[in-house]
Amino acid sequence: MEFESILLPNIDDKRPLVIAGPCSAETEEQVMTTARQLAENGVKIFRAGVWKPRTKPGGFEGVGSPALKWMMEAKKETGMYMSTEVATEKHVYEALKYGIDMLWIGARTAANPFAVQEIADTLKGVNIPILIKNPVNPDLELWVGALERLYNAGIKRLGVIHRGFSTPDKTIYRNLPQWHIPIELKRRFPTLPVIGDPSHMGCARNLILKLSQQAMDLNFSGLIIETHCSPDEAWSDKEQQITPAALKEVLDNLVIRDAVQTTEDLSVLREQIDDLDNDLLQLLAKRMRVSREIGHYKLEHDMPILQTHRYDHILTDRAGQAERMEMSGDFIKQVLEAIHSESVRQQMVVMERAKSMK
Ligand code: PEP
Ligand code: MN
Repeated sequence: MEFESILLPNIDDKRPLVIAGPCSAETEEQVMTTARQLAENGVKIFRAGVWKPRTKPGGFEGVGSPALKWMMEAKKETGMYMSTEVATEKHVYEALKYGIDMLWIGARTAANPFAVQEIADTLKGVNIPILIKNPVNPDLELWVGALERLYNAGIKRLGVIHRGFSTPDKTIYRNLPQWHIPIELKRRFPTLPVIGDPSHMGCARNLILKLSQQAMDLNFSGLIIETHCSPDEAWSDKEQQITPAALKEVLDNLVIRDAVQTTEDLSVLREQIDDLDNDLLQLLAKRMRVSREIGHYKLEHDMPILQTHRYDHILTDRAGQAERMEMSGDFIKQVLEAIHSESVRQQMVVMERAKSMK
């Protein structure tokens, strides 16, 4: 897939492209005040949730269409572009009817192919940028599938938002950033703009700067940051919203390292990496040859492939060694698990071949 620009008239392609505004549009006054303060700080794209997906019924489910009217007033007064989340055909019709400039598909909706298809069908022939948040679960193919549904409907102005993934593990993040997933997406589709959502990853004001910086260091195109004129009184996601003044501080503190030409030094280091990767592959191939020999030995001696004690010993021993060599023990465990599983597979091939030759 080849994508077209998500930029709107008079917005340059300087990183980061900033989208800011409250989690939810609550009142006309809250929308207008927040928008005015953001516009004064140079923000050009305003966000506000009009329809809110809630875990349980009875929570604040968004104001609905009246909020679109307030956003259009904010647009008229400040000149900012307006963006909101859509999850159904009706949302798309309403948002377009009022003149919303950019839409996004939320994480819960992105995980539902029926809903994404419905939105794609409704958007046929519409030429505004659409951003797709990552599905709640870390499933790259599901994310790609959502992109394909929109792309196949003729929408080429597409971008994605990494907002972190739901996880059963206890971490400091509500939605764990798994940067390698959007990085893989970008590797597959180099023209796809990737935007970071530090608000929904951290769900905490004090994590916004750190996560925004990480997104910039990974060369993300933009940031979507929840901003509210009085965050403590927000009707949704209040613990993660910041004031327009705090947003300005975050943006002023970001260090933007723009992709520069490969310098001499860097290319020397990259050559070293290429050589080391080559050595690693050779070593792994050698290790697999030894595994196959072990497979033959076990076959001749009627031994089972898996010897749990030995495997346990390898994991603990190597994890300790790795830590002494300034690598994380968990990292080496993952590497060894992958090597072990390939090694078991190779030994199984040895056994199967022997069986078919009988
Ligand atoms: C939002 O952006 O307010 C939102 C609901 O986000 P997500 O879909 O990432 O939970
Ligand atoms: Mn929110």
